[in-house]
Amino acid sequence: MSIGRRGFIQGTLGVSAMAALYGCAGAGKGKGHVVVVGGGYGGATAAKYISMWSNGGIRVTLVERNAAFVSCPISNLVLAGEKQLSDITVGYEGLAKYGIKVVQDEVTAVDADKRVVKLAKGGDLAYDRLVLSPGVDFMYDGLPGLQSASAQQSILHAWKAGPQTVALRKQLEAMPDGGVFAMTIPKAPYRCPPGPYERACMVAHYFKTKKPKSKVLVLDANEEIVSKKGLFLKAWADNYKGIIEYRPQNELRDVDAANRTAILEFDQVKADVLNVVPPQRAGDIAAKSGLKLINNRWVDINWLTMESTSTPNIHVLGDAIFPAPTMPKSGHMANQHAKLAAAAIVNLMAGQPPSDAPLVMNTCYSFVDATNVVHVASVHAFDAATKQPQPVKGAGGLSAGPTEMEGKFALAWAKNIWADMLT
Ligand SMILES: Cc1cc2nc3c(=O)[nH]c(=O)nc-3n(C[C@H](O)[C@H](O)[C@H](O)COP(=O)(O)OP(=O)(O)OC[C@H]3O[C@@H](n4cnc5c(N)ncnc54)[C@H](O)[C@@H]3O)c2cc1C
Repeated sequence: MSIGRRGFIQGTLGVSAMAALYGCAGAGKGKGHVVVVGGGYGGATAAKYISMWSNGGIRVTLVERNAAFVSCPISNLVLAGEKQLSDITVGYEGLAKYGIKVVQDEVTAVDADKRVVKLAKGGDLAYDRLVLSPGVDFMYDGLPGLQSASAQQSILHAWKAGPQTVALRKQLEAMPDGGVFAMTIPKAPYRCPPGPYERACMVAHYFKTKKPKSKVLVLDANEEIVSKKGLFLKAWADNYKGIIEYRPQNELRDVDAANRTAILEFDQVKADVLNVVPPQRAGDIAAKSGLKLINNRWVDINWLTMESTSTPNIHVLGDAIFPAPTMPKSGHMANQHAKLAAAAIVNLMAGQPPSDAPLVMNTCYSFVDATNVVHVASVHAFDAATKQPQPVKGAGGLSAGPTEMEGKFALAWAKNIWADMLT
């Protein structure tokens, strides 16, 4: 690690501690109303920390369409039959003790001039500042065969944990021994760079133990494995030889849902279970709010405050934003964005400037079987010249190889981050 001691301490503590260093924690600063849209990794964390760091001075309302939070991290273990959906579900009740009002509803529109959001069940909510953490929505426009509701109900993504995770597990259970599970991966950037390769491992682990004649076929639009390449290739060679087949540069062009067939540029692949992870963009409400998008997909933000570059008083977090160099779309990173934004919002609402040197970090664990895990970690420091966070050289890194100890760390990571967001 080449960063100095101060950089190391900041990197170890993360944005939460940074907020304390910059003097916004517990100061009872600011007043007004913040509405947060989306109770996932970014939104729930932002709601809690704005309320906590303003000592309740800022009133916070969280609007989330689902009744409970269901985690994408660990959801590949549910597919493999190693965990249940209830193991990765946490309610929103814990936020009440911070004075946060949780509204189960959908935001259908944002009037940025009047500073008001519209709710699907009727009524408006006025805000002083708005936080959007809507995650991703899927780009089905390039996949005509997947546009109908019936096609989407049979060819699943399971890339938002919940009912689709359970439904895909059922398809795997119903598959005969000797069948083929094929999954497609879109071109990066997409939610969770290592997630598809972890999924291949966990489905292969299930097949190896319960349906040993079956195959996992990975159809990747990318030129090569986009995260933890060496670690996944070794795990596949050591554990799943003859089970996992990896085909790079295989971009999905369309789907024949009735025949469970992936239509690729030069090939067609029929599977017993076809799992399509479609290309993604910022959750729909970002575009509906009129925010400036890059490539018509991801929200352009100011990295000192997470505020939209086009629309004042709207801060955007998590998977919905245009990523900084090498920054992954991960739950850990959404949690860090949330703390960066919370600290900036508390300061701005108290008439003070945000920190000019925010620092965020990421650790992402992947299960290669039911107990053995590998990780990748990185640190990203704001760089005044590019006005973006840049990866800190020498910080972070990769596992040497899968271990059971990292498996324990991964499960502890999940419990800790759910507690950090929601209790
Ligand atoms: C299989 C898989 C494995 C993964 N593993 C990991 C991992 O190990 N580690 C890791 O760090 N990350 C992992 N991720 C990535 C992680 O899940 C995402 O990066 C993270 O969820 C992003 O947080 P977010 O707040 O941007 O979005 P989300 O967590 O998806 O939250 C968005 C929320 O907004 C709500 N919403 C959207 N629009 C509206 C609206 N208009 N009104 C009301 N509510 C709305 C949604 O219902 C949702 O609850 C994984 C992802 C997948 C799919």
